[in-house]
Amino acid sequence: MYFMISFDLNQKKLKTSKGKHVKSPLMNIKKISPKFQNKGEESPVNTKKTTQDLHENKIRPSNLNEFLGQSNLKKNLKVFLASSRKRNEPLEHTLFFGPPGLGKTTLSRIMAIEMGANFRISSGPALEKSGDLAAILTNLKEGDVFFIDEIHRLRPAVEEVLYTAMEDFCLDLVVGKGPAARTMRIKIPKFTLVGATTLASLLSSPLRDRFGHHLEIEYYDESELSAIVQRSAKILDINIDSDAADLIAKSARKTPRVANRLLRRVRDFAVVAEKNNIDSKIVNKSLSALGVDELGLDKADRRFLQDLIEKFAGGPVGLSTISSSTGIESGTIEAVIEPYLLRLGFIARTPRGRTATDLAFSHLGIKKRQQSLGI
Ligand code: ADP
Repeated sequence: MYFMISFDLNQKKLKTSKGKHVKSPLMNIKKISPKFQNKGEESPVNTKKTTQDLHENKIRPSNLNEFLGQSNLKKNLKVFLASSRKRNEPLEHTLFFGPPGLGKTTLSRIMAIEMGANFRISSGPALEKSGDLAAILTNLKEGDVFFIDEIHRLRPAVEEVLYTAMEDFCLDLVVGKGPAARTMRIKIPKFTLVGATTLASLLSSPLRDRFGHHLEIEYYDESELSAIVQRSAKILDINIDSDAADLIAKSARKTPRVANRLLRRVRDFAVVAEKNNIDSKIVNKSLSALGVDELGLDKADRRFLQDLIEKFAGGPVGLSTISSSTGIESGTIEAVIEPYLLRLGFIARTPRGRTATDLAFSHLGIKKRQQSLGI
């Protein structure tokens, strides 16, 4: 597949020059050079960080031993990494799939560190033009790990550029316009593409098939999450009782990102109450102030269930209808709210839409109305 690109031959020079880096399409990527990886710091090249990034990077595990849980996946990954290192070849392209906050970015970063390679990160929506992707790919070094988050949101034209890049490590460019146009094939370094998505089925099959490894990240159990909370507490210098960590783990929607966020919020309450130790009492108080219940359902989850049950008699109801009714974006419903409710057995997805199960009715303390027998 060829794609049109106004290939500015100076562009490469612009991008490699540190001073001009901000203006290049590479502004969306973060880079960790090997020099910084071992210290767990980000390279100064990465200037755009959100406060969420800053909090997460501090506690992000930088090797497989610090990465808790997912034992099967880690076991396999260790084999793949060792094999690639022995063969002295880059790791095969890898696809991670699973709900947000389970560690896909963290694992990709660990893969780069383990391979002694640079880690570059972008996302499907950020790569607007095929030229953006071409510019990034031509700047990679042999063995680099290039991570694309939300890879299912790549535009078709950008996705097609990836096909030859992943398979043959080259780009087919059309240089010039009209009768003077000619094609040019340029080689790019052998790199490892790591894609992350919530569901593997969201990817087109040509893209999915080009990944050598398909790795599913699963929800965590409470003991793993409790260990993650205790590890993060140690790094953040927070004293926490083990039963308090268990309580946070229970309300963390089986997700490390949520567990870490709850830990930081509970710390806020502890600091204001001038407590230098987090116990179960302060956890319970903080969670109820935050509107998080003992199963980790927050206000948005409960609004979703309440509308489904009270406005739509338990369903079935379509995604756009429930989205307009609750005011929650349909993407958030699909990626964040529903996977956890499905996992709890609170909703079911039917061809006609979402329905609430008996478990959801009893969790909200709502009596199920008897269906009238329309004779
Ligand atoms: P994703 O890319 O799947 O959305 P991330 O890799 O960004 O998730 O992880 C979210 C946060 O959770 C990070 O701050 C990371 O430190 C933490 N985290 C995720 N998985 C683990 C784990 N297995 N052990 C410890 N911390 C984890």
